[in-house]
Amino acid sequence: MENKRILVELTDEKDGVTGTAQYFYTHFPGTVYAPMAGYTKNVPFLVDCGSFQGIDNIDHLNSSFNFDITSPEFSILTHAHLDHYGMYPFAVSQGFRAPIFTTYSTKAFLSEVFLRDCLSIETRRAKKLNETPKYTEYEIEELKHSMIPCDFHNKIKISDNVSIYFFSNGHVPGAAITLVQLSYPGCEDINFVITGDYNDRNDFFEVKPLPEWVYELKNVIIIIEATYGGIKSSDLRPKCFIDNVVAALSQGKTCIVPAFSFGRIQEVLYKLKNAQGRRLNPKFETYLDGKTAIGCTNLFLSGAFKMHSRAKNFLPENLTIIEDKNLRHFLIDDPTPKIIVSSSGSGSYGPSHTYIKGYSNNPNSIVHATGHIFPDSKLGKLRDDASIATQFFDTDEFSAHAKQEVLGEFPRPFKHLKSILIHHGELESKNDLAYVYKETYDASVHVLSSKYVYQITSDGVIATLHRNLNTNVPIR
Ligand SMILES: [Zn+2]
Ligand SMILES: [Zn+2]
Repeated sequence: MENKRILVELTDEKDGVTGTAQYFYTHFPGTVYAPMAGYTKNVPFLVDCGSFQGIDNIDHLNSSFNFDITSPEFSILTHAHLDHYGMYPFAVSQGFRAPIFTTYSTKAFLSEVFLRDCLSIETRRAKKLNETPKYTEYEIEELKHSMIPCDFHNKIKISDNVSIYFFSNGHVPGAAITLVQLSYPGCEDINFVITGDYNDRNDFFEVKPLPEWVYELKNVIIIIEATYGGIKSSDLRPKCFIDNVVAALSQGKTCIVPAFSFGRIQEVLYKLKNAQGRRLNPKFETYLDGKTAIGCTNLFLSGAFKMHSRAKNFLPENLTIIEDKNLRHFLIDDPTPKIIVSSSGSGSYGPSHTYIKGYSNNPNSIVHATGHIFPDSKLGKLRDDASIATQFFDTDEFSAHAKQEVLGEFPRPFKHLKSILIHHGELESKNDLAYVYKETYDASVHVLSSKYVYQITSDGVIATLHRNLNTNVPIR
């Protein structure tokens, strides 16, 4: 008799850094003939459902799915970044009704800050283009109800054949590494270890190692991100943020610091706080501006996740939170040197956009980027514009992603590794990381592409088939 086994067909929806979504079509063996011969019980599930970001005119990329969005029986949300959750509201408008398993903190950040923000951005976008919004308050409320908050390290039994676990991940508060265990009587298990966006440390909370029993599991398939797969810590430029800010203030300049609302802004504030009393004179005022950034900061302060006690007091002295947007123009006109930390991190939206516009021709200012700069974003254009009067700086010291040496070591403790699948990054970073894995591990290594369907069994990836984007099935 032929050996029964579980078969998973995996498609990765987006090839770049943003817009993460992975669709798993699980075929459990059965006794009745089915379209996939010998397999009847199909359990499709979805890991993340994110939006494309960073470039203009991308609406069309955020308004369709290459698979049946009504089909997933459940979904997993790895963390509260737009490139991982941004398409869920649209998915709900298209009939997606599956429960979304995530951590308590991720649900809190989404429910209390980000979904409201998503809705107002979508409403404004639709109004500007005179279109019907892709989703409304109704979809947002549905989404809130479908998120099932889960504890770290607890077994979450989805069905007789599917269980998941969330483990600690330093990327942002609430982020999780997910273990998905597929089992069926008479078959070997398949264990997917999905890193999501990953970091092994965080200034605000403890990142616990994976438990030993996970490393002992049979038939492990790792799905790992590669944002910094091509960069070693030693390749990074020396830290310069505080030096640049201190130098600018001492020359009587104002510092504009655009930063991402979630994680980054709080890290920037914490860094300024730590520098105060040493190199940074606390007499200089710091301003925090941006509704989402303020909402996130309040959630940090209110205990939405278990924070190091040393980090709890992370706000710098002399911090003013800007609740009234009329104050922005007052600040821009006021020549007193100061620090203005604002969202968005790309500079394209929100108060950052107003400040950059207000200061770009002011020689008594610097603009200090704190994250990845998309070439088409406001910061990207500012960086490349030789005619501006403000001084432009950037740094890579704030990254929330692990670098190559950490990513390279991640698979090492696993005793029974079958395949490593790489996604989420520029192609060059993914290929660099793939090279490291191929040199180091006795497992098959694949850089995922949205053009293929990956067939996976307990032996790892057994076939890579061209994908028919109309039907989302392999071309046989
Ligand atoms: Zn992320
Ligand atoms: Zn991401």
